[in-house]
Amino acid sequence: MPNCDWGKPCECKECRTKSFDVKCPKCNFNNSLEVEADFWEYSIDKNNLGDYNFSYPQTKKDLVCYACSYLIIDVPFFNNYNKSRCENRLKLIENIKQGRFCNCCNVVEGDIKGCFSKIELLKHDNNLYCKACLADFLLKENPDPSNSQEKYEFDKVELKWKKNKIKVQCPKCNKNRWLKAEHSWRKMCKNCYFLSKS
Ligand SMILES: [Zn+2]
Ligand SMILES: [Zn+2]
Ligand SMILES: [Zn+2]
Ligand SMILES: [Zn+2]
Repeated sequence: MPNCDWGKPCECKECRTKSFDVKCPKCNFNNSLEVEADFWEYSIDKNNLGDYNFSYPQTKKDLVCYACSYLIIDVPFFNNYNKSRCENRLKLIENIKQGRFCNCCNVVEGDIKGCFSKIELLKHDNNLYCKACLADFLLKENPDPSNSQEKYEFDKVELKWKKNKIKVQCPKCNKNRWLKAEHSWRKMCKNCYFLSKS
């Protein structure tokens, strides 16, 4: 198991490899490339923390654009395309061509949001929206159904108002309290409940 799994300084192949982008002057595609360090040394800084310093090849190389095969002369040295990233970028371009983007914020289907989750689109009134925009939209379209007895909260994952709290009257002291919907079976208030137990 490599050290990096433990958050320790590490010089495994993955940690020695970095990605960088080169834009094609012909088709504007952002080629994602990978380069592996050819030299590294371990050093300790003034706070007594050790880490590896990587050096990368300084030579140049020609690149065949991943998208249009145009030959780009003299880009910084690389070992490989970052294939999954290039493929994902091609897919995004295709999605834009096909109109697969949010009608409100223009985010493209399949784009990476945050770190891991890919943007999904949902259809509403024949338009495509990302989940965040559709949630805002539905929120404006459907007013909060809360009333004096029930409180609702908008669930941005399920995209609907969900009952959150219910007003329940204690059968003993007649006091009203707001209870979470799933706790509404607790008819008696805390005070009366403990009094009845003692
Ligand atoms: Zn590592
Ligand atoms: Zn190109
Ligand atoms: Zn959106
Ligand atoms: Zn009570």
